[in-house]
Amino acid sequence: MAAIHLNLVIPCYDEEEVLHETSRQLLALLDDLQARGIASADSGMIFVDDGSRDKTWQLIESLSHADPRVHGIKLSRNRGHQNALLAGLLSARGEVLVSLDADLQDDIGAIPRMLDAYQDGADIVYGVRARRDTDSFFKRFTARAYYALLRRFGVDIVADHADFRLMSRRSLDALQDFREVNLFLRGIIPMLGFRTAIVTYDRLSRFAGESKYPLFKMMALAFDGIFSFSTVPLKWITLIGISLSLASIGFGLWALFVRLATDMAVPGWASTVIPMYFLGGLQLMALGIIGGYLSRIYSEAKQRPRFIIEKSI
Ligand code: UDP
Ligand code: MG
Repeated sequence: MAAIHLNLVIPCYDEEEVLHETSRQLLALLDDLQARGIASADSGMIFVDDGSRDKTWQLIESLSHADPRVHGIKLSRNRGHQNALLAGLLSARGEVLVSLDADLQDDIGAIPRMLDAYQDGADIVYGVRARRDTDSFFKRFTARAYYALLRRFGVDIVADHADFRLMSRRSLDALQDFREVNLFLRGIIPMLGFRTAIVTYDRLSRFAGESKYPLFKMMALAFDGIFSFSTVPLKWITLIGISLSLASIGFGLWALFVRLATDMAVPGWASTVIPMYFLGGLQLMALGIIGGYLSRIYSEAKQRPRFIIEKSI
């Protein structure tokens, strides 16, 4: 089979501590793939600098001077992991792209197996974590609950798959047509269709630097996953509203009965105050959910660019 024109796409935000080692390992992998005739001579890698504040871009430039297989895109400012990844996926050339994290938590040993699956006819190959034992208990628990919730809301998503995946040229062309601004690639890619495959791997620990995904970024991504792919929460609000109205009619009838037919009627403080707090909380939650959709409609309606490329090498 002909050698594959492969490009690795790596979003980087403040990754000066890891880039040397990452590029060294990825170049070694490329050497091997090229020597075995799997990857073509023009294969390479593209680092997307997501508006880093440290020396990430200078490093990418010097790596690129040292080896012509290293390329870089510099975004004009920090746009977040999903947008940086999209910038790489939409700008990189090549027959096949494999996206992975800069910290090599995604085991690059799985890439040859992904290419095998591609040669067997898959257009999209998901890297799926075999285990989650490098995660904290909190992350494991919240991740599991989150995937269960998404499935409940009818979102088609591959469990324990982050953004370590192979995509063929035709699947990338299809991705181009998804214009949404609130990006949750894990939700969009399964919508593309095509033949898919799964390759399992053990996720390693970050070998240097800190996670660039603090809790609030994680939560923002999690909400994008729900609000951008499911309207089930809106139906839930309606259902809860209807059930509560029915229940309150029953409650009202009962109160009337107590008042008229018995002498147990007390000046009800609790029965007034408790439902008040309860309903107040529920209304705020409902408004919050509606607000979640509204703010996304707002940003989608403006159709602002998802990323701006300052320069590329
Ligand atoms: N990243 C990015 N922009 C951001 C945050 C993160 O491009 O605003 C990149 C980061 O450099 C890394 C990848 O996204 O290559 C995953 O981030 P990280 O490893 O910090 O997340 P974690 O593995 O802790 O979830
Ligand atoms: Mg990481």
